[in-house]
Amino acid sequence: MDLEYCESVNGDACGGVFPYKTSLGLCAKCKKLADLEPGSAEHQSWKEMKQCTGCGVAWKNLQGTVCGRCSALGKSGLAQNGGYTFFIHLNYIDRLAKSAIEASRNARANAMDARMNKQPSAHPLHTTAGLSNAKSNNTPTGENKIFISVGCRIKSSSKRGQGGTDPDCGSWGKPWAKEDYLSEVLDDALNTLNAHWAKTHGMPLQRSEVDFRWAGNKLFLPGTSNNTIGAVYKEYQTGEMAAYYSPNDAKVKKALKNQLSMALELYVNQPAAGAFMDSAPQGPQGRKRSATSTSLAEEPAPINKRLVAVGAGEQPRSRFIRTNRSVSDGISNSATSIRLTRAHTTCDVETGQVDTAWPDDAEVLNGFIGKSKLATGATKEVYQLSIGSTLYVAKRFFEIGDGKDDVSAADNKKYLMSELDRLKMTAWFLRNFKSHAKQNNVEISTGIDVSDGFLVRKLGSPSPASGLPPMEFDKAVWLVEPRRTTSVQKFSGTLAHPNREDELGLTLIAFTHFIYDTSDKELVLADIQGSPMSIDKRDVMVLFDLMSHTPASDSGIGDHGPAGIQAFLSQHQCNHICRGLELSAITHEAPDGVEGD
Ligand SMILES: [Zn+2]
Ligand SMILES: [Zn+2]
Ligand SMILES: [Zn+2]
Repeated sequence: MDLEYCESVNGDACGGVFPYKTSLGLCAKCKKLADLEPGSAEHQSWKEMKQCTGCGVAWKNLQGTVCGRCSALGKSGLAQNGGYTFFIHLNYIDRLAKSAIEASRNARANAMDARMNKQPSAHPLHTTAGLSNAKSNNTPTGENKIFISVGCRIKSSSKRGQGGTDPDCGSWGKPWAKEDYLSEVLDDALNTLNAHWAKTHGMPLQRSEVDFRWAGNKLFLPGTSNNTIGAVYKEYQTGEMAAYYSPNDAKVKKALKNQLSMALELYVNQPAAGAFMDSAPQGPQGRKRSATSTSLAEEPAPINKRLVAVGAGEQPRSRFIRTNRSVSDGISNSATSIRLTRAHTTCDVETGQVDTAWPDDAEVLNGFIGKSKLATGATKEVYQLSIGSTLYVAKRFFEIGDGKDDVSAADNKKYLMSELDRLKMTAWFLRNFKSHAKQNNVEISTGIDVSDGFLVRKLGSPSPASGLPPMEFDKAVWLVEPRRTTSVQKFSGTLAHPNREDELGLTLIAFTHFIYDTSDKELVLADIQGSPMSIDKRDVMVLFDLMSHTPASDSGIGDHGPAGIQAFLSQHQCNHICRGLELSAITHEAPDGVEGD
């Protein structure tokens, strides 16, 4: 469950999203309504009451959309030593995925380091990936990084406002590894801007309200902005494109000497209402990271503190400060060399049935697995894995309901197989959904994909990352997926199916309904989340870590059974795609005569 979602097992939630909600489950209004007799005068008056979009509390005479407490949280919070920054951090951005950016950078550097040092001759140079890996590792430190500066441009209808970036938002920059994704830079920039934005606007900006543009308000070409930084640099900053897109600020160029650089703008697609008129407290300038901030502590320091965040009250020209990130470079010995075999998984084209087999004569593959985790979810941990010269992520369970770090090898294998089933099934449904939409001439967002995935078994004694005792030979199983950006967007919760207005969101809502229909009401897709990627010049949302609810609660971890199905039925709002595909009518009647929200 996510704190900000209003959700419950018995269908009396509104499914709303409240960033300042402070307890799990129902929002304050739904909690109140659940205690009252449906149809009573009191129930009716509470039901009609306006609700704060921040915390979810209902107020009889609420002015505007946000209550005083929520707007005060925004105004006073930052002054109290960054507490507010952390608050947004917890609620808005997956905290651990965020700290994982730092961790993944280390782990990637280390994994590569390990490969280069331990296996110099085995490194395949005949592949493109192998060549570029070798190249990037042979360049002197520093040249492998690209300095990205970010300013802000706020959407404006007036000519004056369109002229340039907003000086009150400040600008900042730091070097990034070529292997990092531009979407990770965007998350980072949004986080930085929100420290200021939330103070003056009461609410932080959402991911859907911002985009990257090149300095000078130049747009990205479709299908390019979710690439790795290295790929973006190559496409826009070399060859013929460079004359148009490369940064032309002489001062910046001089400051960066010979370092590769890109100048971007965070475009805010929301008109500013008197933006940044307050005199804001000064952000920490050029503060060096403490030694602990590079560790994988469970409670990471707010990432904003490590950035160059600059407040108002200065000339824009003087705001540019380089952050020293060299601390995190070149740490060795963090990967374990492993030998593994791959399971063979098939998905029946006709029925969608998934079958996984472990052939005895499977080819033995060589790889490296990171010793420290990249990210942690509620139930799974994620590690960096390389096989040959290809980078992947490897996932395993550490919590399946019997307590933390108490998952047997057999259970881990069983539930990872269910995870893979969910990926393969969803991919199968998605293919059918797309062709059904085509047949019915219904326009849907085509930028949706499901992550590839396969299972591997480590040969010999389990690696430290597996969390298994050393004598469990050949027992450590991992779910392996291609490496992606750590930037994640959520579309539904375990029991919350909020409505959305954008094409991608509407398509995923209809897709959930389509699966329910075509599975003969046996499957409700939940916890839909994805990472934005540019694949073959297309912008694609790659779905992963999906959850499902089935009548017998037997589809894997997080399956809430009939209650999970009911949550979908009571919250789903059919849209034009559902209707275009002639999906079944969904009744909002809750079982046992309990009235839904
Ligand atoms: Zn609610
Ligand atoms: Zn509020
Ligand atoms: Zn529908």
